[in-house]
Amino acid sequence: MSETNRNYVGGEWTEAGTGETFETVNPADPSETVAEYQQSDEEDAAEAVEAAAAAEDEWANTPAPQRGAILREAAGILADRKQELTEELTREEGKTHAEAGGEVQRTIDIFYYYAEKTRDLGGKVKSASAPQTNLYTVAEPVGVAGLITPWNYPIAIPAWKIAPALAAGNTLVHKPASIAAGPSVAIFEALDEAGLPDGVANLVTGPGSSVGDTISTHDEVDAVSFTGSGEVGQMVYDAATQAGKRAQTEMGGKNPTVVSSSADVEEAAEIVANGRFGVTGQACTACSRAIVHTDVYEEFVEAIVEEAESIEVGPGDEYDMGPQVSEDELEGTLEYIDVAEKEGARLVTGGDTLSGDRFGEGYFVEPTVFADVESDYRIAQEEVFGPVLAVIEVDDFEEGLEVANDVRYGLSASIVTDDHTEAERFVDEIEAGVAKVNAKTTGLELHVPFGGFKESSSETWREQGDAGLEFYTIDKTVYDN
Ligand code: NAD
Repeated sequence: MSETNRNYVGGEWTEAGTGETFETVNPADPSETVAEYQQSDEEDAAEAVEAAAAAEDEWANTPAPQRGAILREAAGILADRKQELTEELTREEGKTHAEAGGEVQRTIDIFYYYAEKTRDLGGKVKSASAPQTNLYTVAEPVGVAGLITPWNYPIAIPAWKIAPALAAGNTLVHKPASIAAGPSVAIFEALDEAGLPDGVANLVTGPGSSVGDTISTHDEVDAVSFTGSGEVGQMVYDAATQAGKRAQTEMGGKNPTVVSSSADVEEAAEIVANGRFGVTGQACTACSRAIVHTDVYEEFVEAIVEEAESIEVGPGDEYDMGPQVSEDELEGTLEYIDVAEKEGARLVTGGDTLSGDRFGEGYFVEPTVFADVESDYRIAQEEVFGPVLAVIEVDDFEEGLEVANDVRYGLSASIVTDDHTEAERFVDEIEAGVAKVNAKTTGLELHVPFGGFKESSSETWREQGDAGLEFYTIDKTVYDN
C-alpha cells in the first residue's frame, strides 16, 4: 500500500496544481511502491516562495530562543518516530537499518544543535573609538531560502539546511530529490506539529528542471543552498548568482585514501572498505581511490579483496550493504565497471549484479575492486556513485600526494600512516575540505564545518556547525552614539 503525500505550503497540506503525482519504489524490491508525491510545477513552486516571503517579517521578529523552542519540539517529535522513520528510509532508499538509523539520529541531533544555537545569535560587541558609543553587530536573517537536496542522505541533508535556516530567522522553500522524498515530508510534519507559524517552511515535490529551477531563480528568494551532482550544482549556482542571490553548492567527490608504506595494511583495508562500501558507495565523501605505496601494494590488494568479499549484501536489517537506490544508479555503476575493464584495470573481486531469492529484482551489485588502475583512467577521475573501488599503485609518498590531488574534486581525503611527518604533510598539502588521518573518508561530526575544495563546492560557504549559520545570516553593524 502506498501513501499519497502532499506539498506543505502556507501551513496547509496541498495538492499540486497539475493534479499529477509520481511514485517511489523500494530499491530492494522495485515491484513495491513505497509512496506517492505531488508532481508540482513552476506555479506550485512560486506559490510556495510567495508563502515564505509573506511569513518573513513575523519569523525574523520572533525572538530567537522562541524559534529554538520550536526546533527543539520538532527534534523530539522526530525522536519519537525514529524507528518508523528508519524503516521508511530503508524501504525508500535502500540503506541498511543501521545506516538509516544513524542518519535519522543525526537529523534529530541537528535539530537539537541548532535549537541551542538560537540562544547565541546576538552578533558581536566591538570597542568604539568615540566615547559613550555602542558599536556592535547584529546577525540578521538573509530572507527567503531555497533549499534543494539529493537523495543519498534524504533526511540528514534537508535537516542540515532547514534547521540553521530557521534558527537564524529565515523562511524557506524546500525541494527534496524525487527518488526519496518521504523523509522530507516527515520533517515538515514534525515542524507543523511543533507549531511552526504558517508559511515559514514550505515543501514542494517535483522535477528539478521546473520546481528546482523556480526556487533557484524566483525574485523573492534571497539565498539558495544546493547539494547534489556537479553538473546540476554548477547550473543552479550560475542561475542563482546571475539572479543576484547568495548561493551555496555542495557537490561531488573523488575521495582518496593514501596508504603509506608504514601503514598497518589490515587496518588500512578496513578503513578503505568502510569508506567505500558503506551506504553502498553512495556517499559524496565515499573513498573511491585507494592510493597505495608499492611496498605494501600486493598485500593491500589481498586484504581489500578479503574485506570486500566478507560484506553480506541484501535488503533490510540483516545485511551489511543494501541495494543501489535506482535502476539508473545501478546502470551507472555497471557502465563504469565496463569502462574500467576496457581501460585495462584488473578486476580483483565483484563486478556483477546479484540475483537469486534474496535479491529478487532489486538493484544489488557486488562490492567491486579494481587493481592496477592508472590515475588518468575514468574510474580514477570521475565520481562513481556505487560500491566500486579503484586501487592505484605509487612509488612513494610524493607520488601518492600528487595522485591524490590529481582530480577536479576536493571533498574529503584520508591517509593511513604510522609516520607523523607524512601525516602532517598530507594534512597540509591535500586539496580537500576534509582531511583525515588514520580514518575513513566518510563521516563527520555535526559541529564542524563541511564543504569541499575545487569543483566539490562553491568554496565561499560551509555547512554544519557555526559555519552552517553564517550562510543564513547577514551582519548589520550598529553605531549608537
Ligand atoms: P542531482 O544533482 O541529480 O539532484 C540534486 C537535486 O537537484 C535534486 O533535488 C534534483 O531534483 C535537483 N535538480 C535537478 N535539476 C535541477 C535544476 N535544473 N535546477 C534546480 N534543481 C535541480 O543529485 P543526486 O543524484 O540527487 O545526488 C547525488 C549527488 O549528490 C552526487 O554527485 C553526490 O556526490 C552529491 N552529494 C554531495 C554532497 C556534499 O555535501 N558535497 C552530499 C551528498 C550528495
